[in-house]
Amino acid sequence: MREEALSSFIEVPAESDFPIQNLPYGVFSTRSDPMRRVGVAIGDQILDLAALELAGALEIAPQGQRVFGCASMNRFMALGREAWTHVRGRVSSLLRADNPELRDDMALRERALVPMRHASLHLPVEISGYTDFYSSKEHATNVGSLFRDPKNALCENWLEIPIAYNGRASSVFVSGTPVRRPNGETKALGAQRPSFGPSLKLDFELETAFLVGQGNAIGEPIPVPDAERHIFGMVLMNDWSARDIQRWEYVPLGPFNGKSFATSISPWIVTLDALEPFRVAGPRQDPMPLPYLRQRGEHAFDIQLEVRMRPAGAACETTICRSNFKTLYWSMAQQLAHHTISGCNTQPGDLMGSGTISGATRDSSGSLLELTRNGGEPLTLANGVRRSFLEDGDEVIMTGWCQGPGYRVGFGDVSARIEPAVELHWSADATTKGVS
Ligand code: CA
Repeated sequence: MREEALSSFIEVPAESDFPIQNLPYGVFSTRSDPMRRVGVAIGDQILDLAALELAGALEIAPQGQRVFGCASMNRFMALGREAWTHVRGRVSSLLRADNPELRDDMALRERALVPMRHASLHLPVEISGYTDFYSSKEHATNVGSLFRDPKNALCENWLEIPIAYNGRASSVFVSGTPVRRPNGETKALGAQRPSFGPSLKLDFELETAFLVGQGNAIGEPIPVPDAERHIFGMVLMNDWSARDIQRWEYVPLGPFNGKSFATSISPWIVTLDALEPFRVAGPRQDPMPLPYLRQRGEHAFDIQLEVRMRPAGAACETTICRSNFKTLYWSMAQQLAHHTISGCNTQPGDLMGSGTISGATRDSSGSLLELTRNGGEPLTLANGVRRSFLEDGDEVIMTGWCQGPGYRVGFGDVSARIEPAVELHWSADATTKGVS
């Protein structure tokens, strides 16, 4: 059946992110049942896969292994692509308008369908490791122009390998979790010595991330043609960044304390199966990468992305960026192949960020650093509020979706509000005190 012809017995408006064509996975709980478990979003409902599994309506492994009554998706993700595709097919079939199995079983519907407004969404995976790539040529060019040299914005390796760093998995939070402004050491322009205090250049980065399902053993790289079989799905990601801390700790942009305090992801994992109808060609790669990074066919996805800001105290949001995932220079398959070519192993639940997704125009820039030219040209938001970087109480909301004919495959959103920095005090002789 053609994708657009699929319909569910559950009413889903055309503008919903979660029609039967999507079926993203998440981990949720309810007040009446606080046990965390795996569910699938459908319209404004959650289909409780743990309840279906218990009822015998969702057998995924011949040995009757249960994988959905867990606080994370990892166990299911580790089963591999055949299991993922099988469950997706079964869930889609159960939700179809023309299948009476769940539709007419009122007792099972009562147990297995939960209104989303009654649920709390949690981090869907136990994040094993977190790597952040730097794969938008436009972003790397913008940042290189600001901090290096506009005539020589890209480092010589940028067009040859997908650049990345290993980040902190411990500070990845689900959407809605407040983000505390970090403290740190910075050095003001012209100052003799650095100073310490709350970051004054707190920023967001518009990213997506993919989650590794089945990993690879140490010493056994994942070749490019196999890489998509290892990718379970994608989320939206806000890679919060403290530009002043980042700039001081390493030039041009050191990814340590300037990045480690928080990363937010959206709660629903959209599978590659759901994204398949939106597969498109990525940018042409010139020079052609070395053989271990070469790939044929189409490996980008047409995912529209938006960033909105609600400044502290304001009632309305302002859209400040419109971008698209398909502009990324390096594909997810190339990123994963490159990540493992050294022999590095990956595991179920490894989170791989795309890097800030900036387009060719100013209003498609995925960070305030680029949108405001490092704070030099503040944005004017609705009601005349101006912003160079984020202030306490500001909220950043990112959304993403693929537009199909009459339906959209959406990611929901990743949003968070900034909280003031922790106040830290110590006397000049703190070291002496610490010793005594
Ligand atoms: Ca980043």
